[in-house]
Amino acid sequence: MKEYSLKHCLRILTMHLLAIAGVVVYGWSWTAIVFALLAFYIRHFAVGGFYHRYFSHRSFKTSRTFQFVMAFWGTTSGHKGPLSWATSHRLHHKYAEKPGDPHSPKVLGFWKAYIGWLLQEDSLPTDMTLMKDFSSYPEIIWINKYHFLGPITYLGFTALVGFCIETYFPSLQTTQMQIIVWGFLVSTLMNAHIAMIINTFCHIFGTRRYETRDESYNIWWLMPFSLGENWHNNHHAYPKLAASGLKWWELDPIYWGIQFLAKVGLVWDVYDRSYTDRESTSV
Ligand SMILES: [Zn+2]
Ligand SMILES: [Zn+2]
Repeated sequence: MKEYSLKHCLRILTMHLLAIAGVVVYGWSWTAIVFALLAFYIRHFAVGGFYHRYFSHRSFKTSRTFQFVMAFWGTTSGHKGPLSWATSHRLHHKYAEKPGDPHSPKVLGFWKAYIGWLLQEDSLPTDMTLMKDFSSYPEIIWINKYHFLGPITYLGFTALVGFCIETYFPSLQTTQMQIIVWGFLVSTLMNAHIAMIINTFCHIFGTRRYETRDESYNIWWLMPFSLGENWHNNHHAYPKLAASGLKWWELDPIYWGIQFLAKVGLVWDVYDRSYTDRESTSV
């Protein structure tokens, strides 16, 4: 049984306190809120489309260069590195609702599955025996190790954008500190909580189209926040599929993004619906 880590607890607590204090002290503006939402969606797309559908499930193929871009883009979300994220996620599919599943509410209870597992020592470890398919890419192993460069770079970016907006576009009525508070702190926490909500809610309640051996559910109202990751029962039925929304009304913007990347030639061999009848694999 892993011990809780004081360092992780303090880091997550500090992020929340700084976000609350920042909003109280520096206030809000429409520009800062729009920036925060854009930053949230762009980075959530990297978690859902890249960390999840590419690094965990290999739902499409890409070049070595764009693979690194996807990895770095994902690190800006503060969800650690692509290989550690995918290690936990592959374990989640392998042991779903059984001991070994890192965030099963059925096994761990709600709060431990929501956030407690991330507060333990060595949370999100990288297991290269599970990630052999990336062992020949030293640059991915490097960014996985130095994942903190992503959030630091992104923080610098928000500071720069905030400075430029405050200095050169005063009509947008915001300040550098508002852009940092909303664009970095608030949007990063939103991204973290949406991932935690998907991990837990979608294994507790909702609707089930497929009788999978786990307790995964689709929750339609989470779509505007999770961009398609909410069709979680569909996903557990067909984990390798690039799309999670399988009916026309199951909107799946992350899949649309992957299709767009395929259209412009950055990714290819997208594992699509034509494969669903053929196999259902865990990776
Ligand atoms: Zn799941
Ligand atoms: Zn998955």
